[in-house]
Amino acid sequence: MPRISLFHLTLLLCALSAVSCHRTPPRPRNVIFILVDTLRADRLGAYGYRRGTSPNVDAFASEAVTFENARSQASCTFPSANSILTSRGPAAFLGQPNQALGIPQGIPSLAEILRQHGFHTVAVSASAVVRRSPTRFNPHGGFDRGFEVFDEDCLWKPAACVNRAAAEHLRPDRRPLFLYLHYIDPHGPYQPPEGWRRKFARGRPEKEWVRRGDPNPIGDWLYKGKPNPGLTPADLAFLKDLYDEEIAYFDSRFAKLLAALRDSGRLDDSLVVFASDHGEEFLEHGHVKHCRTLFDSSIRVPLLLRIPGADAKTVSRPVENLDIVPTLLDYLGIQAAIPFEGRSLRPWIEGDASSDELQYGLQGALRSASDGRFKLIHDLASGAVSLFDLAADPGETRDVLARERRAYARLDGPLTAWITREEGPGGAQKSREAEARLRSLGYLE
Ligand SMILES: [Zn+2]
Repeated sequence: MPRISLFHLTLLLCALSAVSCHRTPPRPRNVIFILVDTLRADRLGAYGYRRGTSPNVDAFASEAVTFENARSQASCTFPSANSILTSRGPAAFLGQPNQALGIPQGIPSLAEILRQHGFHTVAVSASAVVRRSPTRFNPHGGFDRGFEVFDEDCLWKPAACVNRAAAEHLRPDRRPLFLYLHYIDPHGPYQPPEGWRRKFARGRPEKEWVRRGDPNPIGDWLYKGKPNPGLTPADLAFLKDLYDEEIAYFDSRFAKLLAALRDSGRLDDSLVVFASDHGEEFLEHGHVKHCRTLFDSSIRVPLLLRIPGADAKTVSRPVENLDIVPTLLDYLGIQAAIPFEGRSLRPWIEGDASSDELQYGLQGALRSASDGRFKLIHDLASGAVSLFDLAADPGETRDVLARERRAYARLDGPLTAWITREEGPGGAQKSREAEARLRSLGYLE
């Protein structure tokens, strides 16, 4: 039988007592942080997709705060995940000694802060990058600081594995829980588990790599000088269908995770975050996979926050993944004297914020700033500058720099100031070189 949560017990006592209870919901006790690697916002029903990939995420969104205009700081797991977990811009993580990709000493992470405040801190990660110990994609690990438990046994495994490991940590504990769950399902190769194949993909492509959901032969053609593998529009459509099937599979397991949280009595006294580190490209802009561009196909991500006792809401103002950590700490009542680069979204959630901040992005030689309506992208390598009207042209297909001079002027100064602030004089060059090295070593995949 499900246990009654503290929140429901409080409601019950309020209902039974003659004394009126304060209407403010109780402060949340736990944090459940769900990060789904490589999940494009526009492939979820909650963000307007009509294909039925995500009924359970959509139902969760209907009782959460949905940030419909959220962007990640980079289009690669590293350094996007680092930014998410620390509220520091990506430049802070580039160029570490020995190509290290983790969170460097001296930059506090969410896990460390919560552990210092008495939380039991647990990570379960299926990612080859967000790791304690080395992998081919992250030769030094280094994401475990602050975690008492960092479970890596589900490396590259489907969501059911992450859920099983998570369930081990939902037992009653006198300490509050920080549970970080890093799912990898939509990441390539797109190989939905048996039972989820053929939900969207039809037919049997001739090419074996297409049937296997492997986008790498396209990447080898684009980036490594190999011949075109004979890609056809039908092949590309098949790969996209498999990607959507991976999302549908994840969504089904997401329902099971929520059920486990509910049964453990933790759902209603936990802040539950649903986020992603970046999207995925399917040749919308001449690229595949991720780690290449700052177009929305790569950086527009879902961001949902379920706050116990708070009403569901949609926030359309632009927000960044950097804002997650300060928002969580605000709701937990934890004041950390740490120079976060994001801000608490509580004023936007509770409805009286008037100011907007810009969203900034960094990937390779690219730097971007967006106010949610326009996005300015600087290519520091070629000097090219482009501007997109995200409202009129969400696919970012038409450069409007020549006619939207006021939007350009509004974004350009802050973007230049951000680059200087984040990377210092000459820093942009250094970060480009650092990333080129990582790419040549095969870490940015
Ligand atoms: Zn990733």
